[in-house]
Amino acid sequence: MLVKVLGAAAGGAFPQWNCACQQCQRLRSGTFAGKPLTQAQLAISEDGTSWTLLNASPDLRIQIEATPQLWPTGQSLHSPIQSVVITAAEADTVAGLLSLREFQPLDIYATRSVLRILREDNSLFALLDRVPRQAVWKEIQPDVAFSIGELKFKPFSLPGGFPGFVRPQRRSELEASEAVLGLLIESRSGGRMAYLPGVARVEESWREWLDECDVLLFDGTFWTEDELCRVRGGGNQASEMGHLPLSGPCGSLAALLDIQCERKIFFHINNTNPILDESSQAYAEVRAAGWEVARDGMEIAV
Ligand SMILES: [Zn+2]
Repeated sequence: MLVKVLGAAAGGAFPQWNCACQQCQRLRSGTFAGKPLTQAQLAISEDGTSWTLLNASPDLRIQIEATPQLWPTGQSLHSPIQSVVITAAEADTVAGLLSLREFQPLDIYATRSVLRILREDNSLFALLDRVPRQAVWKEIQPDVAFSIGELKFKPFSLPGGFPGFVRPQRRSELEASEAVLGLLIESRSGGRMAYLPGVARVEESWREWLDECDVLLFDGTFWTEDELCRVRGGGNQASEMGHLPLSGPCGSLAALLDIQCERKIFFHINNTNPILDESSQAYAEVRAAGWEVARDGMEIAV
């Protein structure tokens, strides 16, 4: 299985259009030891010709143009992108679907609750249903495995709620366990990747299967719990946003210290997180603990 990181940043990207934090400012002025990042987006493929997107970021159109494997070939309308797996109904995970609206056949996998938010509450997504068999919406459930081609997916429920824009009445009709999914993906040859871009806490029960993964892509949003408040003088705590920070005695670096996974990669990184700065102490700590920091354009063989 080939995994392409099309975008490694959390929502807002790096730099974020309206952020004047010192990291965004230094990146703009060319004095930052790191690169710009687009918003979190992966593409995976077993054979290198047919691709599945994991979520659909607001930056998807430019991410596709930056990735020759995803360019159309042969016919006038064609795409190597065959399917999209959606793991939450956030703007950052679904907005890119609207960039895929040019009559391209596409299988879109999501839980029943997420499908109801997209298809019953947001009429814009009907743009994907203008001709027969344009989008084929496929319902998935936590803990029920499914396959796309030769790739096997095991979705599981992660702690976290539905987005703030979902109306209270609708929210009361939805299954909380279907709000946010993590994915375990297995290739034909048995290679395994765990995809956990938004994690509020590390469950003890995960340890066994995390140890058996070849690659872990894990929530790298914040370095500290109070990062947004400290850097921007206001905002939510990391835990209030459903993200376990990396540092500290209860952070993800400590919680995942002894997992056996071959490659551990922080992904979905907020522009305020000091691990983006390759000259920082935080970056040195992460690397010393055996972790990598995801970058746009990174290719991972699983
Ligand atoms: Zn910033």
